[in-house]
Amino acid sequence: MKNIVLLGSTGSIGRQTLSVVRKCGMKVLALSANSNIDLLEQQLREFKPRLVAVMQPDAAKELRERTRDIEYQLVTGIDGLCEAAALEGADVVLNSVVGMIGLRPTLAAIAAGNDVALANKETLVAGGDLVMAAAKKAGVQILPVDSEHSAIFQSLLAAPRNRALNKIILTASGGPFFGRSRAELRDVTVAQALKHPNWSMGAKITIDSATLMNKGLEVIEAVHLFGVSPDSIEVVVHRESILHSAVEFDDGAVIGQLGAPDMSIPIQFALTYPDRFDSPSKRLSLTDVGQMTFYKPDMETFRCLRVCIDAIKAGGLRPAAANGANEQAVALFLSGKIKFLQIAELVEAAAESQPAAEVKCIDDVLNADAAARQFVLDSI
Ligand code: NDP
Ligand code: MG
Repeated sequence: MKNIVLLGSTGSIGRQTLSVVRKCGMKVLALSANSNIDLLEQQLREFKPRLVAVMQPDAAKELRERTRDIEYQLVTGIDGLCEAAALEGADVVLNSVVGMIGLRPTLAAIAAGNDVALANKETLVAGGDLVMAAAKKAGVQILPVDSEHSAIFQSLLAAPRNRALNKIILTASGGPFFGRSRAELRDVTVAQALKHPNWSMGAKITIDSATLMNKGLEVIEAVHLFGVSPDSIEVVVHRESILHSAVEFDDGAVIGQLGAPDMSIPIQFALTYPDRFDSPSKRLSLTDVGQMTFYKPDMETFRCLRVCIDAIKAGGLRPAAANGANEQAVALFLSGKIKFLQIAELVEAAAESQPAAEVKCIDDVLNADAAARQFVLDSI
């Protein structure tokens, strides 16, 4: 059984990962959180990792006070997160922190030769060129946790010798506001945007699903993970979230992965790949589902998707800028400072304000991210 490092263990993906780990009997070497030390303390006592990374120094201090009876190494800040990611003896680092703060830890894991199971899609959106090049050089695997990318990854296993990939069909639930017009979206509340029809997730990705930014981020994620052009990705709205994505091969065969909407399935596959094990995950009954529906996405109403596709086509620092602007705009929306439709407007303007210049190093990405956040703050 594998030794794992889990970054973002107190989040939605982090908690579901620990359920998988509990059932599969893997060894947890390190855990991390931003500030939720109540939950982190419970996880620490149960999984007994040798290292714990807490982003906020005050929270780290408090955790140390509460856990004087246990032996473990405690590290803080972004350097601490990177230290956890680079831990010796780790077979795989599951990165489930939210936001592009996960980029440096991903690169640290790769530099240490640790395989990465990646939920943190912002890592690839902001720094995909750097991450994929570093992984290739180090001979490290980037295993997708995102359900759609896991589905694509699993579908591609159907052509192990000659990929012959013609097209990726990336499915989207459409979110809580599917079918609505821009006028109907003008006054939607935070509570309405946080109600996802099929998945229970952290707040940021739930808002991203409502704006379709999440699907835009996933197009960029797929470009990097699978080395395809944005033009060979078709986004299809599939309300039931049963077909998690598919690929069309050159011979016309379409292979997809289906299952109940349960993140423990892709999480477990990323951790056990290339093996599969038994799981208590929800089972799919096609006759209970009855019908599966598919629609073209409405990119005029949900502009974030269009902005992300344009950003990855332009390339360079545009995707990092779109992502940074979105992180800032979503935080402002969640705290009631801007309206729902402003998210897309700000993301679009911030992305266009950045040159499509080549990404040479991580500082380029961090600077584009910071500039996009500042652009958003200056615009409201
Ligand atoms: P959550 O908000 O539920 O959890 C985020 C985790 O990251 C928590 O452990 C949190 O710690 C930690 N964290 C937050 N901010 C920081 C920071 N500044 N520095 C260090 N750690 C931080 O998010 P999700 O689990 O929903 O999502 C995680 C990632 O996975 C995202 O990139 C998301 O897009 C992706 N994803 C999520 C899916 C889902 O079903 N939830 C599906 C597919 C992808 P604390 O608890 O202390 O705040
Ligand atoms: Mg997804």
